[in-house]
Amino acid sequence: MNDNPSALAPVIVLGGGLASISFAGGLRSAGFQGGITVVADEHESAYDRPPLSKDFLRDGDAEKIRLDLSHAPGVEWLRGVAAQRVDTQAHEVHLADGRCLHYGTLVFATGASPRVLPALQGAPMPVLTLRTLGDAQRIRSGLQPGARLLVIGGGVIGLELAATARALGVEVTLVEFLPRLMSRGASATLASFVARHHAEQGVDLRFGRSVTGFSRSHIVLDDGSQIAADLVVVGIGVTANDALAHAADIACDDGIFVDGRGRTTCPNVYAIGDVTRQRNPVSGRFERIETWSNAQNQGMAVARAMLDPAAPPYGDLPWYWSEQYALRIQVAGLTNGDDEIVRGDIAAGDQFTLIHLLRGQIVGASCVNNVRDFTALKRIITSGARPDRAALADPDTDLRKLIARTSSQAA
Ligand code: FAD
Ligand code: NAD
Repeated sequence: MNDNPSALAPVIVLGGGLASISFAGGLRSAGFQGGITVVADEHESAYDRPPLSKDFLRDGDAEKIRLDLSHAPGVEWLRGVAAQRVDTQAHEVHLADGRCLHYGTLVFATGASPRVLPALQGAPMPVLTLRTLGDAQRIRSGLQPGARLLVIGGGVIGLELAATARALGVEVTLVEFLPRLMSRGASATLASFVARHHAEQGVDLRFGRSVTGFSRSHIVLDDGSQIAADLVVVGIGVTANDALAHAADIACDDGIFVDGRGRTTCPNVYAIGDVTRQRNPVSGRFERIETWSNAQNQGMAVARAMLDPAAPPYGDLPWYWSEQYALRIQVAGLTNGDDEIVRGDIAAGDQFTLIHLLRGQIVGASCVNNVRDFTALKRIITSGARPDRAALADPDTDLRKLIARTSSQAA
């Protein structure tokens, strides 16, 4: 244990999302009794973001998605106020309402913000992004049966929104500027399966196109074509909310650089969640890992590491899930290897697994409606095991038993 945990206090956390709450809960459950203050620019009590592109658009129930704050007792919440400047010499945070807070430990959990499309400024129809509860409420009010939705960006957010909108009877066109979907986190095989599925569900997919402007009720693409739209949602990725850290001379590059204990390049200053740029344990590169599981687990691990110098550094296998129609897609590790094993029948379309390899090593897995495979494959990737290829490809092989066999052979 840290010899003097009270020296960490007061702990100031900037941002009130999942990473922030996991961290505060992690500190409390490790026995930290000092002061913790969360500065949250959103007025809302903290909520979970994944349902915003899924259930919430269907049921509109904001109470169902509130995060449970009871695991982080005795935390002072300053809501509806943004941190505006950090002075790392004086150990101070200056807030937008003029208040100044002194810190012993400062934690950036400021997340990320959606990129916008300047070409659509001034467009006659609503042009929205999807990150906050307010965004989801505005989008939801436009998803009336028969409405025409244009989604820009074929990443996870755009595709989940397209799927939910189709289920609500909305006409959907999706414009992606690359020749494929989900370029950041899915293999070409998974992406073309997903594209086929969306096309079958009636989504009009336009690949290799970008938006250049608008006319009265239409959005204009770079090939001159025009798309009639009542609502436009832009889902073209996010940028890290690292401006305050950057201004305080903390090393950043669209994300605050952290080590496995969440430490930034400035003493007593840490960062967690979407705002961080950390070493991906599989690729070895410094990357932003923009997933729910990272916000949850890195937040807790950094809290533990702060209180216990012997705690292992954070280095969880990155993974995410996505829900589109009846598809539950789960992806772990790297998807851009040099080889791929297919388990199951992709054409049948209701359950299959892809195993991604790089120079013979299993580095990633993508599962469609196959939670069992996914759990086992996460263990295989982490262990570095190299099970027999034919056994992996056979959908009748129970991967859990295969792990046990491979480990006993290696012993
Ligand atoms: P955030 O949740 O972004 O929280 C950061 C908070 O800090 C925000 O409230 C922000 O307003 C605030 N803030 C920023 N600057 C300041 C400041 N200067 N002062 C005070 N406060 C500040 N991941 C998955 O793995 N699976 C999914 O299915 C999935 N679905 C998603 C669906 C949607 C619609 C979205 C938006 C994300 C989804 N994600 C999903 C990603 C996941 O939700 C995020 O990775 C996670 O929420 C990141 O948590 P965070 O706490 O790091 O950042
Ligand atoms: P993304 O980076 O996953 O996808 C953006 C897509 O937009 C890419 O396919 C890209 O090629 C395309 N694009 C970029 N510029 C474009 C342009 N000008 N015109 C047309 N297409 C363009 O980002 P996202 O889908 O916006 O996701 C936002 C955030 O939500 C990310 O942090 C993401 O990791 C997080 N998230 C969501 C889920 C989920 O919904 N299931 C899961 C995990 C993480």
